[in-house]
Amino acid sequence: MPMLACIHNASWVIPAPGGQHQCLYCKAMVTKKDVYPKWDDLGTEYQQKWDAHEKGEAKPAETKPAA
Ligand SMILES: [Zn+2]
Repeated sequence: MPMLACIHNASWVIPAPGGQHQCLYCKAMVTKKDVYPKWDDLGTEYQQKWDAHEKGEAKPAETKPAA
């Protein structure tokens, strides 16, 4: 069970497979609306990286066989 109190701080959120993002702290899949601070305050660089991953343009962090 994810920790309900988690704020999903942007620095804990990493790219996950399938263009998703995951909070390292509580392991939940998060969206732009879920992260802290709020999306508009994250900065252009962060937003661009997020969007690039979401669209599948970013390189995968690791190449694991899908098995
Ligand atoms: Zn979290």
